[in-house]
Amino acid sequence: MTAKSTAPSIQDIDRWRSQTKGCNEVLHFNNAGAALMPDTVYDTVSQHLDLERRIGAYEASDNQAQSLQNVYTSIANMLRAQPDEIALIENATRAWDMAFYSINFKPGDRILTAKSEYASNYIAYLQIAGKHGVQIEVIPDDEHGQVDVQALKNAIDDRVKLIAITHVPTQGGLINPAEQIGKVAREAGVLYLLDACQSVGQLDLDVNALGCDMLSATGRKYLRGPRGTGFLYVKKDVIESLEPPFLDLHAADWTGPQEFAIRKDARRFENWESYVAGKLGLGAAVDYAMSIGLANIQSRVTDLAATLRARLSTIPHVTVKDKGANKCGIVTFVKDNLSVDAIKMQLRTQKINVSASRMESARLDMQERNETAFVRASVHYYNTEAEIERFCEAVAAL
Ligand SMILES: *Cc1c(COP(=O)(O)O)cnc(C)c1O
Repeated sequence: MTAKSTAPSIQDIDRWRSQTKGCNEVLHFNNAGAALMPDTVYDTVSQHLDLERRIGAYEASDNQAQSLQNVYTSIANMLRAQPDEIALIENATRAWDMAFYSINFKPGDRILTAKSEYASNYIAYLQIAGKHGVQIEVIPDDEHGQVDVQALKNAIDDRVKLIAITHVPTQGGLINPAEQIGKVAREAGVLYLLDACQSVGQLDLDVNALGCDMLSATGRKYLRGPRGTGFLYVKKDVIESLEPPFLDLHAADWTGPQEFAIRKDARRFENWESYVAGKLGLGAAVDYAMSIGLANIQSRVTDLAATLRARLSTIPHVTVKDKGANKCGIVTFVKDNLSVDAIKMQLRTQKINVSASRMESARLDMQERNETAFVRASVHYYNTEAEIERFCEAVAAL
């Protein structure tokens, strides 16, 4: 995650903004919810829909077969993976589910996870724990509020079936030490599932350095893709050991009246029917991010967020809530005597977009900290220092 980055010029920033229609309409600090799509993503989706209405939808996807294949290649290149290790799935949750529910859990197996785990993942652990007598074990945080890697190491034994961690949690700027966790998983020979929903598109990820076996992500967040898109990476040598919970005629072949054969590539985790225009839009989003460079994006996002945190901290009654030794583009805060919803709605009337992070999406972390909700202001590379200033003035005036 340490490729060289170069600082953007004013011209770069102006170009990114001129290629993002939404920059004229809103001050958008909701990139962790859904980032503004660049015009090329919109054009790709709408051109494909237009082709569908003109020549027929099956005919349109035949016509775009090579472009569809390129989407896998683009995602693989971004992650330093191979195209046959990528599955396109309708969102990050289902992508994660397809990996998780493919694991053959047995009574007594242990799942190691972390305090900051995302609600949907934890609900799945609880479901499987109840059904199969699996133990869930939450590794404590270290003094920075990230997963304690030494504690994780100490928790390893031969009953550990899975290490599953959220790289960047939904509720703050924390970046969990995913690479060190990968080293522990590799040494122990344990499956490692990484929820990279908030890190893909803002951090420069290399699945080899991360050491993960499976990684899930969504299109609409930091990647700036369309809604209803996501993907799953599964490392080649574990694909065939994972039997998807659902199979259809795309994931498997019906080879005889009494038999079927599951695909050998990651597309065994897909299903046949899908949002083709969205997939092409996702590919356009990845290509756009790659043209800027993920290392450049990472350093710009990280810098802007640090500026925002520092400036917010100077505002009376505002408390910044982010944890972590390394922080990303997500900034969370509260303001005395104002509810998170009130802040969000008052900002919305000024065309300033933020979202609310609530206890229900990360209960272990929020409950332990005695918190119910934060305002989440998440910046992207197309945001500016001037927007940060305007934002902070608006927050101060509330
Ligand atoms: C948003 C989010 C998800 C879910 O992504 P969807 O595309 O909405 O399914 C999963 N994990 C984390 C950490 C998230 O922030």
